[in-house]
Amino acid sequence: MAVHVTDSQESAFLQQQSIKMLIGGQWVDSASGKTFDTINPSTGEVLAKVAEGDQEDINRAVAAARKAFESGPWPKFTPSQRGRLLLKLADLIEENAEELARLETLDNGKPIKYSKASDVPLTADHFRYFGGWSTKLEGNTIPVSIPNMFTYTLREPLGVVGQIIPWNFPLQMASWKLAPALACGNTVILKPAGQTPLSALRLGQLVCEAGFPDGVVNIVPGFGETVGAALAAHPDVDKVAFTGSTEVGKKILEASVGNLKRVTLELGGKSPNIIFPDADMKFAVRGALNAIFFNQGEVCTAGSRLFVHQSVYDQVLNGLTDAASKMKLGPGIDPSTDLGPLVSQKQLERVTGYIEIGKREGATPTTGGERATGDLAQGYFVQPTIFDRVRDDMTIAQEEIFGPVVVAMPFEEIEEVAARANKSIYGLAAGVWTSDVKKAHKMAAALKAGVIWVNTYNMFDAAAPFGGYKQSGYGREMGHAVLDAYTQIKTVWVNLR
Ligand code: ADP
Repeated sequence: MAVHVTDSQESAFLQQQSIKMLIGGQWVDSASGKTFDTINPSTGEVLAKVAEGDQEDINRAVAAARKAFESGPWPKFTPSQRGRLLLKLADLIEENAEELARLETLDNGKPIKYSKASDVPLTADHFRYFGGWSTKLEGNTIPVSIPNMFTYTLREPLGVVGQIIPWNFPLQMASWKLAPALACGNTVILKPAGQTPLSALRLGQLVCEAGFPDGVVNIVPGFGETVGAALAAHPDVDKVAFTGSTEVGKKILEASVGNLKRVTLELGGKSPNIIFPDADMKFAVRGALNAIFFNQGEVCTAGSRLFVHQSVYDQVLNGLTDAASKMKLGPGIDPSTDLGPLVSQKQLERVTGYIEIGKREGATPTTGGERATGDLAQGYFVQPTIFDRVRDDMTIAQEEIFGPVVVAMPFEEIEEVAARANKSIYGLAAGVWTSDVKKAHKMAAALKAGVIWVNTYNMFDAAAPFGGYKQSGYGREMGHAVLDAYTQIKTVWVNLR
């Protein structure tokens, strides 16, 4: 097996013959004995072999999660005990931060400076935030108008939860899913993306070390059409939480019909980022750069439609083009890298395919527009690409590309840009750059998106709700909003007469 990293903490994890899956507290091979390769996208080489789950593994994991939910120590845990486990897990993530950051970067490709500064600390933060919530899941007393009745509500866990996550922020997505589900007392089967299973499996080891009872967290790696589909359709799964493409989100919903399982969906986006002429231009240009090129543009909220007021359009485009052309492409593991490779050959083909469509439809890149060559030809690198004066009806202005490609479009009036920004099947996020407080609030009200950023972009915090309008999905993650997604309300009537 080719392992091209040594001398570091992660090598012991990677040098296992194959990395097993976590079912019922045991690390096991897949029922079929099959494994799959996970690839380093900076080089195209195999990083590790991972147990490849399928229907039978999902059956075993669901049975283990059901058992852990109904009997054994977990349902007897006090809220405080549940919270402590989440806090302990947050501590363990911090203790192993360096290793987790390196695994994340090797498997996904993202720059190590971001894995260290953002992915890992935000993951720990998420567990810590929800560790605090487990003791605060209150019901209500209800002032009913029927005499002598004492009526109250209990907030109870849903049961066995399937969680299907994407490859762009593997560790953070695992925390967004696991932390609130566990805080609320559910048991979980987590399916990491086939491209990036490593950090979630390492996290699984930390879950065991923290002392979660067997079967509370199960992790079954593998592919979407097999493991993912089996989990989404399983009759003994009470809820599925999914983050990924809108296309697959629709399949998850179809698969839920059999037992009417609860579904929450965090899906795609084509987010507008709007620069008004009264914005602080230096700030706005830097913001627009990060909005699209952070994480190689593999971000569901990426500011991929850049609307710039006609009067400052050339100034912004020149500044953005200059900054983008200076970004350093390279292997994620190099600390000086600004932009890593895309996650896979498939994603490389998707993104370069859209670039070709853009050119064919008559759009011109001011910079980029090609796959990177030379030393980087082995990996899945695409140059940061800015398409100039794109029309709203072009494919590249409408479809989610999920790569380092932004389309720039001039506008003149505030009402015009709000209407154009909203003309999308998506509604995940939007950015507004202005120093006029009235304009900022007016736009925040007018834009049909689940998150609005004013004079900032891609801000996330465990306490702030996140989720989509329209075909960007439904349900909210983070903050107390997500507690509704992992609990159900029971109303109790007591006749006191
Ligand atoms: P991408 O195409 O970029 O991989 P997806 O939306 O397909 O994005 O992937 C998000 C997650 O959904 C991944 O964990 C993937 O394995 C899973 N997935 C893909 N197809 C299905 C499916 N038919 N049913 C359930 N899960 C799926």
